[in-house]
Amino acid sequence: MFENTLEKADLVFDQQHIWHPYTSMANPLPVFPVASAKGVYIHLEDGTALIDGMSSWWCAIHGYNHPRLNEAIQRQVQQMSHIMFGGLTHTPAIELCRKLVEITPESLQKVFLCDSGSVSVEVAIKMAIQYWHAKGTPEKSKLMTVRKGYHGDTFGAMSVCDPVNGMHQIFNKVLAPQIFIDEPTPGFAQPLQAQDAANLETAFEENHQQVAAFILEPIVQGAGGMRIYSPAFLEKLSALCTQYGVLLIFDEIATGFGRTGKMFATEHTAITPDILCIGKALTGGMMTLAATLCTEDVALTISQGEAGVFMHGPTFMANPLACSVALASIRLLQDSNWQALVQNIETQLKEKLQPLQMHPRVKEVRVMGAIGVVECYHTVNVAAIQRFFIRQGVWIRPFRNLIYIMPPFIIQPDELHTVCQAIGASLYNEGHFD
Ligand code: PMP
Repeated sequence: MFENTLEKADLVFDQQHIWHPYTSMANPLPVFPVASAKGVYIHLEDGTALIDGMSSWWCAIHGYNHPRLNEAIQRQVQQMSHIMFGGLTHTPAIELCRKLVEITPESLQKVFLCDSGSVSVEVAIKMAIQYWHAKGTPEKSKLMTVRKGYHGDTFGAMSVCDPVNGMHQIFNKVLAPQIFIDEPTPGFAQPLQAQDAANLETAFEENHQQVAAFILEPIVQGAGGMRIYSPAFLEKLSALCTQYGVLLIFDEIATGFGRTGKMFATEHTAITPDILCIGKALTGGMMTLAATLCTEDVALTISQGEAGVFMHGPTFMANPLACSVALASIRLLQDSNWQALVQNIETQLKEKLQPLQMHPRVKEVRVMGAIGVVECYHTVNVAAIQRFFIRQGVWIRPFRNLIYIMPPFIIQPDELHTVCQAIGASLYNEGHFD
């Protein structure tokens, strides 16, 4: 008997007692027991090896079980696994934050560590509100954002997610009312569209007196629709933020750490935000850690305000294991030829996925960096298509009408070929689409 092998009773227990993300307990979706994961492969308990197309939702950029990341955790666990951060500090946090200040835009000098992407968004929102409060204009307390965005599942984050996409609608009555404008016109290479510029200008003219910050995902809108848009939109937005006195928050939780071909998506533009949220691939997917970075102006204004302090402090702030492995992951990324790896993935995704555009089920194919998206006309039957992908030896988890991948950067061309083949083949299978 293998130690790792799950009995059938364990799976029944899982289905009866354990809530998986976005699932029903009355009618649970099938779950597949994983024994281990190494490199780009996920090994199921029954011996099936799957090529990972998801990087565990954008995180595992180096693949799984990387010896350098394992070693960082093992080394740190010998020293100290956790210690409160109030009144104490430690080398893992200092070294990580020094690295974050070094690799993010120069204007971002202050780092607030927390434990998940959603919380880093809450922190960013609170920073923006406290900033204007400290400046004596507390009426500037609303957020402005674009439709089709996604920023997490906590209340502040939910309030700036797309208000009609169905993920958080149930909570609309208790969510802080925010200001939404239409999402940017799709297309990375697009010049600024007149309609987009007009939408932005009107929104700023009408609302700037009550708006603390504009928050959005730069260049790629992730879970809200996997849409790619132009740097020109962000440049116009940044100019308006400066003109009207509104802070700019970039949520790079998904796009950060090389995924779009730049270390951060903001580098596709000529501008930088006042506040930046990062998470997910920060630790290479090894531990839960996120951070919110801000400018000197934001930090000092808050600190010199009436409250004198920033009102947030998670228990697991700056967890040393997470900080150590995050630093190791960033160093590993910097030591690798990640730009070339991501570029090669992009080239191959374009070559292999773009022909699917001709398929009658496919509305659009989009590729940027190590992200490939096949948008279908109809919703995908997740359980059926998942079983199909597993039979093809790949791990892809579609969402609504989107079959999308963001593989680990270490994926080899033949492995990526298998993943793309499986996506193509899935389109020909009846019963996979509603
Ligand atoms: N912002 C973006 C852009 C995200 O993609 C996500 C996670 N999907 C979040 C915020 C929330 O992060 P977490 O799930 O770690 O709370």
